[in-house]
Amino acid sequence: MEEDEPASSSSKTIPPWVELEYAHMRILAGPKAQVRFTHLSRSSCKSLEEALKPSSSPEDLAAFSCHSEGILECMKNAGLPIDKVCLLDPKAEAELSPDDGDGRFAWFLFGGILGDDPPRDRTSELRSLGFPTRHLGPTQMTTDTALGVTKIVVDDKVPLDKIPYVNYPSIVFNPKESVEMPFKYIADADGNPKLPPGMRELLHEDLNKGFEF
Ligand code: SAM
Repeated sequence: MEEDEPASSSSKTIPPWVELEYAHMRILAGPKAQVRFTHLSRSSCKSLEEALKPSSSPEDLAAFSCHSEGILECMKNAGLPIDKVCLLDPKAEAELSPDDGDGRFAWFLFGGILGDDPPRDRTSELRSLGFPTRHLGPTQMTTDTALGVTKIVVDDKVPLDKIPYVNYPSIVFNPKESVEMPFKYIADADGNPKLPPGMRELLHEDLNKGFEF
């Protein structure tokens, strides 16, 4: 996961909703995976490590590590050539398929957390570095969803079009309050979007904050 904040910035910390998405990535990736958060400022590295460590059942989660280095430096340290890293890119020509598992790639790379609506193609910064790319369909997903879908395709061998999704869901809090999310999500067994644990509560809190004077 390549963050889009500069590593030299020392004052930025990670907003709560981003922490929830990062924690969700560890759940979705599963215990056999490792999630690396790269290109973080030193202060973000520290606060993310603190936020993600106190998990109640770490055996169900992917291991994680935080890095101030960018992706290229991390690859160099791991001795990984560029053709072993797959950038998930909505503008890629090829769709991600189950054949992309089985060691074809060593790492899957996701762009910065910001999901602009409409998308501003910030993934282009990574695209320009020359990685092989794959798309997950034309609709923008949250980064944790993109990681979850990638895992289902390459590890569980489920083709992209067999995964249940929900597009632009409305999160309804009560008859008067709801919020529409401008993304595509994995659907759970009840057809609801798989949101990071705690996200629903945070969205409701933020909605109410918007009306405080
Ligand atoms: N706003 C950013 C942009 O316009 O490029 C995208 C942000 S998206 C929330 C974060 C990352 O998730 C992307 O950089 C990409 O790696 C991945 N992603 C999201 N939707 C995707 C899709 N439909 N296909 C491939 N990758 C996707």
